[in-house]
Amino acid sequence: MTCRHLAAAASGCDTAFTVDASRVTFGPGALGEVGDRARSLGMRRVMVVTDPRVRALPWFDDVVRSLAASTIDAAIFDAVAIEPTDGSFDEAARFARDARVDGYISLGGGSVIDTAKAANLYATHPASLRTYVNAPVGDGQAIPGPLAPHIACPTTCGTGSEVTGIAIFDWVSLHAKTGIASPRLRPSEAIVDPRTTETLPANVVAASGMDVLSHALESFTARPFTLRAAPATPTARPLSQGSNPWSDLGCREAIRLAHTYLARAVADATDREAREQIMWAATLAGIAFGNAGVHAPHAMAYAVAGRVRDFSPAGYPSGPIVPHGMAVAVNAPSVFRAFAQFGAARHLECAGLLGADTRGASETDGGTLLADRVIALSRTIGIPNGISGVGYTEADIDDLVAGTLPQQRLLANAPCHVDAACLRELFHHALSY
Ligand SMILES: [Zn+2]
Repeated sequence: MTCRHLAAAASGCDTAFTVDASRVTFGPGALGEVGDRARSLGMRRVMVVTDPRVRALPWFDDVVRSLAASTIDAAIFDAVAIEPTDGSFDEAARFARDARVDGYISLGGGSVIDTAKAANLYATHPASLRTYVNAPVGDGQAIPGPLAPHIACPTTCGTGSEVTGIAIFDWVSLHAKTGIASPRLRPSEAIVDPRTTETLPANVVAASGMDVLSHALESFTARPFTLRAAPATPTARPLSQGSNPWSDLGCREAIRLAHTYLARAVADATDREAREQIMWAATLAGIAFGNAGVHAPHAMAYAVAGRVRDFSPAGYPSGPIVPHGMAVAVNAPSVFRAFAQFGAARHLECAGLLGADTRGASETDGGTLLADRVIALSRTIGIPNGISGVGYTEADIDDLVAGTLPQQRLLANAPCHVDAACLRELFHHALSY
């Protein structure tokens, strides 16, 4: 393996971490609080961001009714694309400017919430799209001031976007999946109503559940914040701070909950306890990775999803697509197996939280034990068996490596130095398990 140890010297590295989290309201029926909470944030006319599928569900009516009860005007934008693009971000920002809104309510999955973040950003601080997009794809400029208030209401149990300052999109002409990352993008509040998971198809729960699990595993095994170079000023500390004691708390519990409830939540849509617990795990893992950052499995997932040829899983709209959580899950075992040497005790602890028998195991067994548990859970809930399961072969690896290298924000958060040679090996070992 050609991954290399990071300089272990703490000299010049950070000595503190920052806890940044949205206000979260969690519980069945919580969507009924949207209007009152919007009014207390000063909203009078809002853009409700959703997609056509969610608009047809009862949760949309709950939100609109609650806003009306608080005499808040709503301009409905339901044209969110399943995977947002530069074009769909532009369209949403234009809608926001034309509608002259003073706040945002997003109701949907990660694509919806990310689109609301982008609409808010570009309507509040107009600029060309590339201005705030992460370097090296965009200019990576800092967002100059606060945004309008945004209440995010997730209807899937995966992305954690409701509690993070990250918005992801496809830059179509550049063939790049990229994003914008800033604490200013973080929604003002998250309203998490676990009833929304009742309407999710089983394999959407499977893919998004694996995303939850990987958020927690990657945040827990990321480079420790004490090994990241100190920021130039305290407020310039990056979102991807590295693993830290605050994020560790949420990661441990999210991993434990995924082990206990994910297979149940996939197997039976009427198992309310299991689906509610996975929604809670998603919230915890979102808060954790919003403060620690994910690493290689997510960086590789952008290439795996972005270069899809003809894979079309059931339960998703037609057209070639590797759902985000699935694109992450097919890489994760390969990464944990290879990187465990850079954080042996942490990988072993994760394996134990996922049900591995760690009695008598040495720390060096952690990577294999953890990878085996992730593979076993993937099999149980119908996640494809490696990147060959979503249509890639050995011949695609150079292209996948080229698609991953621009994700420097994520690769720099790995527990070791990750270069092209390292990625080539990781993809090779991720072909099938
Ligand atoms: Zn994710």
